[in-house]
Amino acid sequence: MFKMFLIKYAEIAIKGKNRFLFEDALVEHIRRALEAADGEFQVTKESGRIYVSCLGDYDYGEVVGALSKVFGIVGICPVVRLEDRGFEELAREVVAYLGWMYPEREATFKVITRRIKKSYPMESMEVSAALGERILEACPKLTVDVHHPQIEIHVEIRGTIYLYSETVPGPGGMPVGTNGRATLLLSGGIDSPVAGYMIAKRGVKIDAVYFHAPPYTSERAKQKVVDLARILSQYTGPISLKVVNFTDIQLYIYEKCPHDELTIIMRRYMMRIAQRFAQENGSLGLVTGESIGQVASQTMQSLAATNEVCEMPVYRPLIGFDKEEIVTVAKKIDTYETSILPYEDCCTIFVAKHPVTKPNRNAVRRSEQKLAEKIDQLVEEAVRTAETVEVDPAC
Ligand code: ATP
Ligand code: MG
Repeated sequence: MFKMFLIKYAEIAIKGKNRFLFEDALVEHIRRALEAADGEFQVTKESGRIYVSCLGDYDYGEVVGALSKVFGIVGICPVVRLEDRGFEELAREVVAYLGWMYPEREATFKVITRRIKKSYPMESMEVSAALGERILEACPKLTVDVHHPQIEIHVEIRGTIYLYSETVPGPGGMPVGTNGRATLLLSGGIDSPVAGYMIAKRGVKIDAVYFHAPPYTSERAKQKVVDLARILSQYTGPISLKVVNFTDIQLYIYEKCPHDELTIIMRRYMMRIAQRFAQENGSLGLVTGESIGQVASQTMQSLAATNEVCEMPVYRPLIGFDKEEIVTVAKKIDTYETSILPYEDCCTIFVAKHPVTKPNRNAVRRSEQKLAEKIDQLVEEAVRTAETVEVDPAC
């Protein structure tokens, strides 16, 4: 029945002169998302609206599922297209549609008509009123409520007539790539994939870095991170993931530095290395899944100590989130089940029993001086030997 989808987008509609850039990006992302779905689709932009036309058979669930992962979309309206054969025929079709969509449902409704084809013999208000009457006659369980209707019946009169009344919510946000690029520190945990999702949702293109510590962390732990990146890429588009061998750096820190500062010092080296990749790929910031007070390395003092080594902005979209709120998003975006798989990540192996919760930055700097002999060389080595995994939804 639905041969078309009307795509609703909110925020990007208010971007003034840049509006077309945002719309073009959205159209491109919709096209890309639909490549994964069976069928042939045409995506068009017409007087401030985006339509997806389905040119043959397709799977409704698959198409709506693909569209609901495209940032920038706030609503997906399945549209019935009707030939203009006069008002009587239109009224008959609208009543038939309601009988099919809402059989026996008791509800309030309102008809909203938009007449784009100005030669249509009736005005918008007239069409709405006349259709309303016909619906009341034919559907005794439906009543009119012009202020807060449960069902909004939209009729758009163009060359053909578009009819829709349902909106499947989209993810909102802005099309990926319209707000620059950032590098995500992606671990195998629950938080960092959610952080990446949230930044990408604001239109930021994401690349990622994972710090791997073989043999302390297994191949399966690495595969889990690749899997998380793949799930994320359904929303963000392709992700270039750097897998950094962090073992020698970790062992060296373990050997030379006070154990209660291990996590902080490790984190500082992660930031320094991630920044190298970020500069290379044109990122304007780093992204982490940190949230204030979640663990010892995420107190305000620890975050300050970590942040100190960063020259570019570090975005921490989960900073004010409780774990439960993060889990809710992780479940919604489908990363949760993968995140909770029980493979060690490198930080859980080298953690001290009693990590500092209020690191003294001067002390941390002094501890790092103990690494002077070899650390630069180890960092260079880690950057040089990093493996690049190109991740996309199909890989
Ligand atoms: P997550 O659930 O994202 O692993 P977490 O609550 O376990 O986070 P930490 O392990 O302290 O917290 O990590 C804080 C942040 O540091 C992570 O969100 C991530 O951005 C980054 N991070 C930690 N470990 C790694 C790693 N092995 N590779 C890349 N980034 C990491
Ligand atoms: Mg973690």
